[in-house]
Amino acid sequence: MMAHLEASSPHTMNTYGRLPIALSHGQGVHVWDVNGKRYLDALAGIAVNTLGHNHPKLVPALQDQVAKIIHSCNYYHVPNQEKLAAKLVELSGMTNVFFGSTGLEANEAAIKLARKFGHDRGIERPEIVVYEKAFHGRSIATLSATGNDKVQKGFGPLVEGFIRVPLNDIDALRAATDGNKNVVAVFFETIQGEGGINPMRADYLQKVRELCDMKNWLLMIDEVQCGMGRTGKWFAHQWAGIVPDVMPLAKGLGSGVPIAAVVAGPKAAHIFQPGNHGTTFGGNPLAMRAGVETLRIMEEDGLLDNASRVGAHLKGALARELGGLKGVVEIRGQGLMIGMELAKPCGVLTQRAADAGLLISVTADNVVRLLPPLIMTEAEASEVVGILAPLVRDFLSS
Ligand SMILES: *Cc1c(COP(=O)(O)O)cnc(C)c1O
Repeated sequence: MMAHLEASSPHTMNTYGRLPIALSHGQGVHVWDVNGKRYLDALAGIAVNTLGHNHPKLVPALQDQVAKIIHSCNYYHVPNQEKLAAKLVELSGMTNVFFGSTGLEANEAAIKLARKFGHDRGIERPEIVVYEKAFHGRSIATLSATGNDKVQKGFGPLVEGFIRVPLNDIDALRAATDGNKNVVAVFFETIQGEGGINPMRADYLQKVRELCDMKNWLLMIDEVQCGMGRTGKWFAHQWAGIVPDVMPLAKGLGSGVPIAAVVAGPKAAHIFQPGNHGTTFGGNPLAMRAGVETLRIMEEDGLLDNASRVGAHLKGALARELGGLKGVVEIRGQGLMIGMELAKPCGVLTQRAADAGLLISVTADNVVRLLPPLIMTEAEASEVVGILAPLVRDFLSS
């Protein structure tokens, strides 16, 4: 019998516009629903399942960890915290790490770091520059930093101390902060994810780095979605050759196990003192093992290069099939973080793609977003386009 899933959640809060699909298991870049239907996964649980599903190296490591110890708490040392932190320090060129469990939690810690950075310098009312269309999470502070009315509506009063500026406009940033002695940090995503795959230009990133150095502000880059190899470098800002002072990470870091990290450079690494910050789940043995093994496997299997190569192939194939078509505004992004902006709202495409056996998302109303596992092959990427292109053509011509 087919499982019917519509309106089948009487006891969970009505927070998500879900498709009537329940996934049961996966293998590589494929997942199956409870009715046995197979899907090609070009979403990876929103940039989370870095290694796809049932990875032959990750699963035994996690099974081993579960049988040893899942959680211990931060009253004690967790050896893999030090191991994962050392690896993130090596990959980022930064110095110290705090571990949490979700993206908003990492961003909340970043905001606290910026505020205390200010207070330590005698700034009583610190202000942080944030961006139009940004998404930083749904806690009260992170939704206040987010640049989307829909996320904020109904939850006022918002947290104060944020100054909002447009993307990629250094003059606007200068003007918005001119003479303001309360500014302590500039905070953005290298490539906005929820906002519609909107990249910051390399020259802009370099200019903001210079400005932050000159003004003694923290440069805080939210790599929760665009980080962890997705663009073909460990962190997307590395394409611009800069190093931030604070970098929140989450989504792809544990390949499906909830985990987050705030990586800090010398300017921010020693702001928190005992008692300033903490969390119960953060850095627990299961999450740390997932992080350590995810990074190890990514290196062993050359997944950064794969993300670059397969991403270029995917974007190229999309451009060939759909670029220039009336109604296709732009195809953008880097590596396996790709957005295709259409001229009209296209939320219906998620269901139509699922019907055709493909998992994608639509964000910012009119941007088809592809975030496949970093293990995807060129042949599988071609298959994604093979399913998607006719759906988009149909959609635009109706
Ligand atoms: C998803 C996301 C967050 C929030 O992460 P959660 O784990 O959902 O709290 C924050 N910033 C960016 C850039 C994200 O993509």
